[in-house]
Amino acid sequence: MMIDLKQLFEIEGESVRIDCNLDLSELQLGNATPFTEPVHLDGVIRNRAGVVSLSYTARAVAHFVCDRCLAPVDTPVVYRFEHILVKQVNRDSNDELIVVPNLVLDLDELASSDVILELPSKVLCKEDCKGLCPVCGANRNEQSCECTQKRIDPRLEILSKLLEN
Ligand SMILES: [Zn+2]
Ligand SMILES: [Zn+2]
Repeated sequence: MMIDLKQLFEIEGESVRIDCNLDLSELQLGNATPFTEPVHLDGVIRNRAGVVSLSYTARAVAHFVCDRCLAPVDTPVVYRFEHILVKQVNRDSNDELIVVPNLVLDLDELASSDVILELPSKVLCKEDCKGLCPVCGANRNEQSCECTQKRIDPRLEILSKLLEN
């Protein structure tokens, strides 16, 4: 969504409501496509004493995949963002300032990068997820397998190497 902010930048006290959906269905995060349904954006852009600020909330049900056992993890997410919008960067450049070229805000672009930066780098289905067996691929949360024990004992590994030679 493109939002024309020319009037808002001129008139102190002016505000614009945001209530729209963001399509992030193309976004891939590891093995997951977290946002198959639209992300809802809700917020306001205000001109307070000449300072234009954007504050909004992004809400969705995110579909992650457990980093260890690959089980689907569906979780509601609510992210809040605040930005100061400016017409141009001045001498003291500041990462928190968002420059709005031609006073038209590309909300989709801004919100997409906001949400992507907020996504967790690792998701677990539960704190103590045991993951998949690296040898046979069994889900260790559901079943135990023989291969793990053989692998884990380093003395046995050394012994089996000696026997091979
Ligand atoms: Zn898991
Ligand atoms: Zn196994």
